[in-house]
Amino acid sequence: MTDLDTFRSETRAWLEQNCPPEMREPMRSESDACWGGRNWTFQSDAQRVWLARMAERGWTVPHWPKEYGGAGLSPAKAKVLKEEMARIDARSPLTSFGISMLGPALLKFGNEEQKKRFLPEIARGEIRWCQGYSEPGAGSDLAGLQTKCEDKGDHWLVNGQKVWTSYADKADWIFCLVRTSTESKQGGISFLLFDMASPGVSTKPILLISGNSPFCETFFDDVKVPKDQVVGEVNRGWDVAKYLLGHEREMIAGMGLGGTGGTLGATLKPDDPLLRAEVAAFDVDSLAFAAMSERFFEMFKAGEAHPASPSMMKYAGTELNKRRHELVMAAGGSDALEWDSERSKNGKAARDWLRTKANSIEGGTSEVQLGIVAKHILGLPGT
Ligand SMILES: Cc1cc2nc3c(=O)[nH]c(=O)nc-3n(C[C@H](O)[C@H](O)[C@H](O)COP(=O)(O)OP(=O)(O)OC[C@H]3O[C@@H](n4cnc5c(N)ncnc54)[C@H](O)[C@@H]3O)c2cc1C
Repeated sequence: MTDLDTFRSETRAWLEQNCPPEMREPMRSESDACWGGRNWTFQSDAQRVWLARMAERGWTVPHWPKEYGGAGLSPAKAKVLKEEMARIDARSPLTSFGISMLGPALLKFGNEEQKKRFLPEIARGEIRWCQGYSEPGAGSDLAGLQTKCEDKGDHWLVNGQKVWTSYADKADWIFCLVRTSTESKQGGISFLLFDMASPGVSTKPILLISGNSPFCETFFDDVKVPKDQVVGEVNRGWDVAKYLLGHEREMIAGMGLGGTGGTLGATLKPDDPLLRAEVAAFDVDSLAFAAMSERFFEMFKAGEAHPASPSMMKYAGTELNKRRHELVMAAGGSDALEWDSERSKNGKAARDWLRTKANSIEGGTSEVQLGIVAKHILGLPGT
């Protein structure tokens, strides 16, 4: 038996014993996810126990080093864990921007003190983070951001506004891009961490067409931030921001995989032969995407992926996810448009479909990803 085989059988036995049955049921909606944080209310004892057990083993972030709350697993072992969790349909114990976005950036750019302070809290789901990148005048052109950050000697002073800040009203802390110099566009940006409970921070939820309100306008009015909460060098935050965006795009690309529910053809059986053919074509593309993703995720984790490849995957994955939900709606006919009935599980199909409309905007739009691929992978002239 190889080391990997032993790890697999031990992992299988541990999961069998420790993953509560309720945490093996498919998530009914985004609200079934466990986000953790200071104000989190667990939806069940099973959710609380599952997070605690996984965090104790370092398995919320299996590939992070042990001293920062991970399990220090090799990529091969981390893959085995993922496969074994998928085998029993185990839910992710923790959904967290700390894990998918900030953590990788801190591991690369944070100083030792910042890593020791923030990473274990992220791994245990104790602090919920939000992302303060976009502003009313700076989305695709992110480096045009204006939120002002002044050096006041013993602290930073932040003034400005962010927009589309997902879960800002629920987050404990923010990782925020601020302007510390106006001398250069990219070269005047710093990457700052601060507590959302700081005096001067306020949020205003924005309502979406799905009926939910997952993001906010976020305002900073004379917010004082301790000097040691800049990640990386002052005025070099653009490097951190871009690195983090690669991880965000990797996470969003994963939507293309559509969970562990199997092929669409296995669940949708439309009478219309043309629609059946579209479902079959979708499943073929979906399998190709899954194979491509596996290769990409491994290369990305090993630091061997082309810097622009997260853009390629983000584009492909989100367009595929949108296509999946268009087909679900087409096959469901007018029933799928039901919004508030028990039969439609509170309009799940329609709400999920509407949510996918944001996939090709969040984390950078599809047009912008295509621009990056054209310039950096295909070598075409660009702006
Ligand atoms: C669900 C959701 C969650 C989000 N969460 C967050 C968050 O937590 N934190 C955060 O900071 N931001 C968040 N965002 C914001 C997101 O990053 C921006 O919406 C995105 O970067 C686009 O910026 P914009 O909305 O300002 O659009 P704009 O930049 O104004 O773009 C408008 C249109 O112009 C096109 N366009 C712009 N520039 C180019 C170009 N160079 N080439 C071709 N076409 C172009 C775009 O593709 C788009 O169609 C979220 C967005 C969504 C939808």
